Amino acid sequence: MNTATSHDLFTRAQALMPGGVNSPVRAFKSVGGEPFFAKRAEGAYLIDVDGNRYVDYIGSWGPMIAGHAHPKVLAAVAEVMSDGLSFGVPNALEVTMAETLRRLVPSMEMSRMVNSGTEATLSAIRLARGATGRSRIVKFEGCYHGHGDSFLVKAGSGALTFGLPNSPGVPKALADLTLTLPYNDFEAATKLFEDVGSEIAGLIVEPIVGNANCILPRDGYLQHLRALCTKHGALLIFDEVMTGFRVALGGAQARYGITPDLSTFGKIIGGGMPVGAYGGRAELMRQIAPSGPIYQAGTLSGNPVAMAAGLATLELIQAPGFHDALEANTHKLCDGLERAAREAGVAVTTTRSCAMFGLYFTDQKVETYAQAIASDSAAFGRFFHAMLRRGVYFAPSAFEAGFLSSAHGDAEIGHTIEAAREAFREIR
Ligand code: PLP
Repeated sequence: MNTATSHDLFTRAQALMPGGVNSPVRAFKSVGGEPFFAKRAEGAYLIDVDGNRYVDYIGSWGPMIAGHAHPKVLAAVAEVMSDGLSFGVPNALEVTMAETLRRLVPSMEMSRMVNSGTEATLSAIRLARGATGRSRIVKFEGCYHGHGDSFLVKAGSGALTFGLPNSPGVPKALADLTLTLPYNDFEAATKLFEDVGSEIAGLIVEPIVGNANCILPRDGYLQHLRALCTKHGALLIFDEVMTGFRVALGGAQARYGITPDLSTFGKIIGGGMPVGAYGGRAELMRQIAPSGPIYQAGTLSGNPVAMAAGLATLELIQAPGFHDALEANTHKLCDGLERAAREAGVAVTTTRSCAMFGLYFTDQKVETYAQAIASDSAAFGRFFHAMLRRGVYFAPSAFEAGFLSSAHGDAEIGHTIEAAREAFREIR
């Protein structure tokens, strides 16, 4: 595989950008080697600057659920773009977006658009603190909520990959206000709330932990968190930046039948443009400026081009049977990967939820963060490269979920399983 142009670009980039990238996990640090540079993308494929094609199981880290460069999304963007890129006054698409959100996710009675998932989660905890008059927040080990100071405490994803759960630069006084819990542990949550429940402004959780690969909630666990928050007057915040519109049209809250007080979104909601959103109960959202005193703002928030891409994507995913087809394909892929690993004598476990999956090198069931990090990440690194050489791109970290899009069909899944058969034999 010729990657000479990517190599040249990476050499130049390393002198100019930290690690040669604009977001850490892209640098392949935990799996070794060098990243490839994308030239373009179509459907389920990424095409690099040297002309290599890869079946892409990341989809730009989640947004591309309808496949790359979907003609309907591109057309919507082109149409809106020709009227101007940004106005700085309200535009009609923002209203359509808020209406669409409320229709698809009923707990989003009111919403505010921002420009990233990080902004959404930062804003949501400010609201939780402002509305409750309390300072402490609760998060879970291995959950990643963006790079805001309060969240870089036992965070997953890139922060986990780099061994930096507590980043330098986060003031200790602020980190002390973030309490962490082990995900899926009922008693630990009960005890924490019994001890300090009256000081907790909000509990934020990835309802399915996609930043420790893909850990599903145990039966009743999310209901347990809902009940604890209600009992102790803390706000339940579902961070659905990853799961939103992916694990079901209405997100994890629809899948598990939970109504959070606040939710955060990103990725799919922008269809590939920089977009995030937070929202929830109207009575809470009315406390945001200018209708209330809690300040939050954004120069480009609700940008018309970004709204057009997001709305076109949200339109596509409302097609009848869209998520059912994704779920069936995810099962096909994961069952095939598990079979291929078994045939090669390699211990692999998969987890899945609709269009999202985890692949762990372990023979254990993975239900906790401790089990996730005990899996063999070195074996994952070898597998990652063996697959990349065969034209399949999984996330370059053992702690990132995989994503399918509606453009992944039998041809792509078949190729992936065939490649995995060879890759597992190569690395065992
Ligand atoms: N929350 C979750 C669950 C995420 O997975 C991410 C990013 O991967 C974020 C928040 C932060 O989003 P962004 O990278 O758009 O700031």
